Parts: sequence; C-alpha cells; structure tokens
Amino acid sequence: MTVDLPRLVTEIPGPRSRELHAQRSAAVPHGFGVTLPVFVERATDSALEDVDGNLLIDFASGIAVTSVGASNRRVRERVSAQLDRFTHTCFMVTEYESFVRVAEWLNAHVPGDFDKRTALFSTGAEAVENAVKIARSYTGRAGVLVVDEAYHGRSLLTMSMTAKVHPYKTSFGPFAPEVVRVPNANPLRGVGVDAALVELERVVADNGPDAFAALVVEPIQGEGGFVVPEPGFLAGLRRIADEHGIVLVIDEIQSGLGRTGAMFASEQEGVVGDITLTAKALGAGLPISAVTGRTEIMDAAHPGGLGGTYAGNPLACEAALAVFEVLEDPALLPRVRQVETIIRRSLEPLQLEFDVVADVRGRGAMMAVEFADAADLAPRADLAQRISVACHAAGLLTLTCGTYGNVIRLLPPLVIDFAVLERGLEILTGAIRATASDAGEAAA
Ligand SMILES: *Cc1c(COP(=O)(O)O)cnc(C)c1O
Repeated sequence: MTVDLPRLVTEIPGPRSRELHAQRSAAVPHGFGVTLPVFVERATDSALEDVDGNLLIDFASGIAVTSVGASNRRVRERVSAQLDRFTHTCFMVTEYESFVRVAEWLNAHVPGDFDKRTALFSTGAEAVENAVKIARSYTGRAGVLVVDEAYHGRSLLTMSMTAKVHPYKTSFGPFAPEVVRVPNANPLRGVGVDAALVELERVVADNGPDAFAALVVEPIQGEGGFVVPEPGFLAGLRRIADEHGIVLVIDEIQSGLGRTGAMFASEQEGVVGDITLTAKALGAGLPISAVTGRTEIMDAAHPGGLGGTYAGNPLACEAALAVFEVLEDPALLPRVRQVETIIRRSLEPLQLEFDVVADVRGRGAMMAVEFADAADLAPRADLAQRISVACHAAGLLTLTCGTYGNVIRLLPPLVIDFAVLERGLEILTGAIRATASDAGEAAA
C-alpha cells in the first residue's frame, strides 16, 4: 500500500502560516512558545492539514491529548448533540447526568480494588492541585514529595512541583513552600531503585513523621524525558507511603487512558495509587481532568471545598464518554502495543549504529529516543533540535522533551494508521541517520 502522507505543497511553514504567525506575534505575548509555527485547518486520525494545504503526519497528538484522533467521529457526534442541548450550567449550581457517568467510569476503571470517588476539573494542573488539597485535608499535613525530572503543570503549586527550571520556572518565583524533591530511579543516569528509596526514607525521617501529606509521581515521566523508572521503584514508593501514612498520588495525566498499551501505566508495574489523576486524553481536546481515589480520602475535603466554574463541563464530559467508548474496544490496547513494536523495530537498530543514540525507551505509543555523548552521557539537545527541524521540514510533527531538551518523543494518536506510522518513522530515522553520522564525523 502506498501512503499519500505527508503531502507537501509548499515549504513548511507555508506562506499563509507565516502570514498568520506574524499576526500572532503582534497579538500574543512571546511567553507562549511554539514547536512548529504552522496553522492547522483540519485533522484526521493520522495527520494535520495546514492552512496552506500541507498534510503533516502527527506524532504529537497535541501532547498526548488526541489519542482517539483529533477529529474522532464519536467525539464529534456526542459533543454536537450536547451543544444543541446546553453548553454549561456549572455542576455546583445545577447538575447533569454526564458528569456522574464520567465519574462512574473512572471509579470502575482506575486501578484499585476499593470504593472510589471521582472529582472532575478542567486542566491537568488543577487535578494535581486538587489531589494535594484533598491529601492535605485527609492527613492534616502540609508537605508534598515529588521526584527529580517530574512535570506536574504551570500553576504556582504545580510549577513548584515541576523539576525543570527553564522554561517553566525561570523568573516566576517565589514558589509554593512545602515541596520537597527526591531522586527518581533513572536507569540511564545510573540512579538505582535502592539508592533512590534510601534517599526518600532519609528525607521522610529528617522531616518527621507528620511532614508529608502526599507523594506525587508519574509512572512514566512526560515532559521530564519519558523516563521509565527502573522496575520496583513505584512499588518501593507504595511501600514507603504506606509505612508513613502518606497519600500516594499517581499522575497518569500523560501516561494514562491507553497511552502505554495498558489502560493505566501504573497497572504495568502492579502499583495502585490512593489517588490517580487523568486529563489530556480524557476529553480528546475538550478541557477536562479527573481526580479519582479512595472514598475515605476523597471525602475528607468539606462540602463546597472543591469545584470550579467549568469543572466537568458538559461538552467535555460528553467527549470523555466518547473516549471511553473507543477505549473499551477490545482491539485498542493490543493495537497500542503493536505501535510500540513497530516503533522499536525502526528505532532500536539506530542505538547500535550510532553512539549518540543513547536510549530508545517508553511503552506503547509513548516512546522516546535520547541523544547523548557516549563517553559521559553529556546531553545533546543540539542533535534533538536538528533532527526535529529536519522532520518538520519533511512533514512529520515531532516533539522534544527532557530536562536537557535532548529527547525526541513520539506520541502518535493511538488510532494512527500503521502505514502512516511506518512512513513517519522512515522520515524520523532518515533524519537521525543524517544528523548522527554528521555528528560522528565531527567527533572523529
Ligand atoms: C500535561 C501534564 C500536566 C499538566 O496538565 P495541564 O492540562 O497542562 O495543566 C500534569 N502532569 C503531567 C504528567 C502532564 O503530562
């Protein structure tokens, strides 16, 4: 089968995108970055069409959001029908059924063989903030433990919980107090499970038994570089949280809802959070997030203490119900694991071929390739950047990530056409080969 993607009819970005980008620059502060200054007109399951008529292969999914595609039929139908009924009431003013159905689905599917409650909000950062509020209310403690390389959002508390300083924190302090960072078991960087857990135990002991309300962790890190912690790390966090009465909050905002080939990445480690957070893929682009946890913890916050004007907006709830229908298709998760197989088959050989390809890792449709010098693992953000630029010019939308910006991450829609996936990987591996062999010659 021949693939007619990408389709390039102008250079990228094309003239119309460049014109709009100039207008944007005159209207929007430059604090908003942009990966690829291309303006989108419409989307399919595998590609974005820009205003110049180019079709770009989508390996970003709007940062792991449009897992079911950016123009999914079920989402469009459910949201359009809701649009015809009403757009908003505020769930704290008068209620509507879809909010309850979304909560029920999450209570049934989030890991944990115990009674649960779900609170809906609008953004991932809000879910993290509310998990901390609830854990504080339940424990009567203030402290929040987070790990190295973590990303939890851009609001004051979540920015404080995020590890990477630039661009997320530079000049935006002072930060929220009571946030304490502990090591992540990062195999590539030589931090083992035991060393990381010993340090966590020390921090907990140093701060006293009543210091920490919550320990918040991503089962596979997102912005921090798609770091897959060494097996046993999450289980160790679970054990230590139990020993000290700390609420374990699993941030599945990027890794959850099928992204890693399981419904939740934490399931793949056999670890159950007291609270599990979802957002991103939950609404397929309509803003919605969720805090799901043990009833006794979730009910600790007093009536009226939780909420938000748009929390669990009815359009977004309908989108979530459509996403659940897609996730319930028994063929979906095996398909995501096939995406991983296809990506590994294409990228892993490069690790043997080129010293600077330091790691190929991830799970399911959440995969990454890290660039670093072989001798000392010095991060090579310059290579990740050059490869991304080459991919963009060739019609493949990729994202970078990582504390040092030296990681290219692949987040294709879970429903991406396999032939398009293969074509995108051809572009990516071609760009890596061209750039890495230049880098090798430069080093020799
Ligand atoms: C994106 C993300 C967040 C923040 O979500 P927003 O909707 O951008 O506020 C929090 N945690 C993780 C793991 C994320 O990937």
